[in-house]
Amino acid sequence: MSDIARHIERIRQELPAGTRLVAVSKFHTAETIMEAYEAGQRIFGESRVQELVEKYEVLPKDIEWHFIGHLQTNKVKYIVPFVSLIHSVDSEKLLSVIESEAAKCDRVVDCLLEIHVAQEDSKYGFTPDSCRELLQGGSSEKYPHVRICGLMGMATQTDDEDCIEREFGALKKLFDEVKGSSAVDSSAFCELSMGMSHDYPLALRHGSTLVRIGTSIFGERVYSCF
Ligand SMILES: *Cc1c(COP(=O)(O)O)cnc(C)c1O
Repeated sequence: MSDIARHIERIRQELPAGTRLVAVSKFHTAETIMEAYEAGQRIFGESRVQELVEKYEVLPKDIEWHFIGHLQTNKVKYIVPFVSLIHSVDSEKLLSVIESEAAKCDRVVDCLLEIHVAQEDSKYGFTPDSCRELLQGGSSEKYPHVRICGLMGMATQTDDEDCIEREFGALKKLFDEVKGSSAVDSSAFCELSMGMSHDYPLALRHGSTLVRIGTSIFGERVYSCF
């Protein structure tokens, strides 16, 4: 068994039923991804459009590709034809561009809204209030080619576990509130994407349904590959 297969196996054993593993393969080669594929992994996460498209073209077609990075509006058209889930919808402008590109290829694209919960300054993501406002504005009528399937968030980069747990807890609370409201189709609104290599055990405690793990599967990234 390869190291990658062993890492995937170990992580899978930690996941409760209903929680899925997104293997974050950014900066890793197609050959490396195939090692994970051969271990049965089918969901891969990428954060850059060109890299994702290149990998999509050469790798098996039963891979579910998830986009997890900041998505520029002018690049939406390259991934909309095949992407399975966009985790990182961080503005209404982006949502409206996904809508128009998805309409052109006659698809309904599954998306998560990225929520800014960390203490770190980030240019990206909705605040809990701007998320509520967007959803109460009738997003399913305005964006019929987008299906809002849940929320995504990142905790502060810190060793302070209380801080991380507070942030994941806040995200879970917002998720439950939105799911229970009339603003979304609650049968579609099922995914809470949180947890990375260093903090996924904490995310699992707070109800994560999608953990996005790169380093603990593939090792450290070498940022010169692509
Ligand atoms: C890179 C990345 C991950 C994976 O990070 P690791 O620490 O390598 O597990 C998860 N989520 C997002 C949004 C990322 O950009």
